[in-house]
Amino acid sequence: MGCTNFQIRDDVAILTLNNPPVNGLSFELRSSLVNGIDRAIADSRVRAVVLVGNDRAFSGGADIREFGTPLALAEPSLRTVICEIEACRKPVIAAVGGLCLGGGLELAMGCHYRIAIREAVVGLPEVKLGLLPGAGGTQRLPRLIGAEAALNMILSGATITAGQAEAAGMFDSVIEGDLLEGALAFAREIVRDQKPLQRVRDLTVHHPNAEAFFQFARNAVGGAAKSLPAPRRCIDAVAASVSMSFDDGLRVERDYFVGLLGTPESKALRHAFFSERAAAKVAGLSGVETTRPIDVVGVIGAGTMGSGIAMNFLSVGIPVVLLESKQEMLEHGTARIRGNYENLVRKGMLSKMDLDARMALLRPTLAYGDLGEADLIIEAVFEDMEAKQNVFRRLDEVAKPGAILATNTSTLDVNRIAAITQRPQDIVGLHFFSPANVMRLLEVVRGDRTGADVLATVMRFAQKIGKTAVLAGVCDGFIGNRMLFPYSRQAGLLLEEGATPWQIDRALEKWGMAMGPFRMGDLAGNDIGWVIRKRHQAEAPGVRYSRIPDMLCEMGRFGQKTGAGWYTYEGGRRNGKPDPAVDDMIVSHRNTLGISARRVSDKEIVERCIYALVNEGARILEDGIAQRASDIDVVYLSGYGFPRQRGGPMFYADEVGLYGIARTMDRFARESGDPFWQPAALVRQLAAEGKTFNGTQTGA
Ligand code: NAD
Repeated sequence: MGCTNFQIRDDVAILTLNNPPVNGLSFELRSSLVNGIDRAIADSRVRAVVLVGNDRAFSGGADIREFGTPLALAEPSLRTVICEIEACRKPVIAAVGGLCLGGGLELAMGCHYRIAIREAVVGLPEVKLGLLPGAGGTQRLPRLIGAEAALNMILSGATITAGQAEAAGMFDSVIEGDLLEGALAFAREIVRDQKPLQRVRDLTVHHPNAEAFFQFARNAVGGAAKSLPAPRRCIDAVAASVSMSFDDGLRVERDYFVGLLGTPESKALRHAFFSERAAAKVAGLSGVETTRPIDVVGVIGAGTMGSGIAMNFLSVGIPVVLLESKQEMLEHGTARIRGNYENLVRKGMLSKMDLDARMALLRPTLAYGDLGEADLIIEAVFEDMEAKQNVFRRLDEVAKPGAILATNTSTLDVNRIAAITQRPQDIVGLHFFSPANVMRLLEVVRGDRTGADVLATVMRFAQKIGKTAVLAGVCDGFIGNRMLFPYSRQAGLLLEEGATPWQIDRALEKWGMAMGPFRMGDLAGNDIGWVIRKRHQAEAPGVRYSRIPDMLCEMGRFGQKTGAGWYTYEGGRRNGKPDPAVDDMIVSHRNTLGISARRVSDKEIVERCIYALVNEGARILEDGIAQRASDIDVVYLSGYGFPRQRGGPMFYADEVGLYGIARTMDRFARESGDPFWQPAALVRQLAAEGKTFNGTQTGA
């Protein structure tokens, strides 16, 4: 019977949801649930029904494979299934183990009784996709656990364990041990005692001061409500559970749900969600490549990056051999790792015992011979081709056969590094972002000869250390930094024309970027960009750059680390203040060039910076550096503070419309004479065909 197994034990029917991996509520599963309930009703032996999932999940919610297809809305919808269950005259008991999320929890709340094992994980994460629970969740949860607790869960989208939810009254019983046996015993008790059917819809929600409470909640999300409409709608829907009948509340919930489904924010958030899943897939790999085991990791260089990289592995229990060239640097790096963990202990996020366990996995060394056991070795020494090639020459001698040898280079040619070894198939780029123990993004750089199994291994392994891996080809800056170059260049040119650093930062931050380009430069170190600009100017002398960022560096203003950059950071504070000295420097530079400052609008700032990302992103696609437009979006969402509710630069461009964007770029080209603004051929082509970046992607 489709995705549900039906069996009868004594006088109890057991309906087992069977849609691996997490019992997504597909059309087939929904249909078979209705059939199963019908069968239980029709069978006179059956006196109660137990609904149970598999080891991983009662149900993880909607089947994401059906998202955006007619099947997602086809009857029986989840609402219909829940109505059928609720109306059943025989008691239906949800037996909850593993994940019980979104529609899965709504389904459980539609049953007459709920029993769970303590560790089961429950939550309503819809708000994270810019939606609200649309199958009665906003009406049933407040009836079950009270308006405040329900609103907390729905607004945060956070998960809790059944054990934590027990006190609030979400479950009739929370048990240890065998879930099915517990549920069967529970069902028999209900039958024996002839307990009445409990329908959550029949409960009422009391709140002593509902009006004030909901108003308070609306105020709390107030500022963000414009860019993210879903939280506000969640509050309105839960408020309806207090002020309206169940059926009216359900209608309100449906209206809000449908309204949210069409918002640009929800579309963008859903795009981000699916893009992150798609990014893990490498076109051309079958998906069944054998992967290499990674039990011991080596890291070379215990500087800023090396120590952060090592922490990723220590934190998931993988031993790390950390190699340095100097004892002093080794001690420094080890102390940095310990210090970072101690910070977590101070904040109550890590126990002292775990700190000790993690540090015990770290083996600092100066001897290359100690790397012989490592399955994956990541080099993070200075950004210098000769230094890196020397390291890889040594690695070729000491690493065991089959070890994966990775470089964390930001800009150097992975193929040239691979060519120095006898095993180019084992070489790959693993571009972590700073701070490497925190940032989620990992660019996996595929060299010309990188083995398919090496790629499969690192893409899979990235998940284990909590990274979002995106595949990139070899080029200057890979995906993220290559796009950042023209973005920063536009920001510099805008300064020359009349904008201030604070206006540019403010305009982009108001638009949604986590940090404007100048605050970001101060954080990362302005000297890094300086080095790169010098190289670019040598390689491509014709490209026009503003000298202003270089002049800032010439003043020794490298950013937070020197106490001053674009902003000043008094007393080591991280929140900088605009500095008149920087204004003066910019004005005097304009005077030297004979430029009279013009008023630059925030709109122009956003368009020039963001469209610079888009145009370079298009060229990256043309060059085959990124597999798909959505991968570029993932890079910017997870590594560069791009606002999630705008879906990433390529998705944003699609939403604005490529025809209009191409015309704006043409105008910029006319006004500035800058050849960069010639729209990439791909932009022109898609604009002419009325297509989008994300609608035409291949290789998923
Ligand atoms: P860093 O100067 O902080 O650290 C480099 C470390 O490598 C030093 O401790 C040095 O003693 C050690 N080292 C040098 N040669 C060595 C050798 N032969 N054997 C062993 N150890 C050696 O530099 P970093 O910022 O950590 O950068 C390291 C790499 O990561 C560079 O390739 C850089 O481009 C890349 N990267 C840096 C960032 C960033 O934001 N800092 C981000 C991504 C990638």
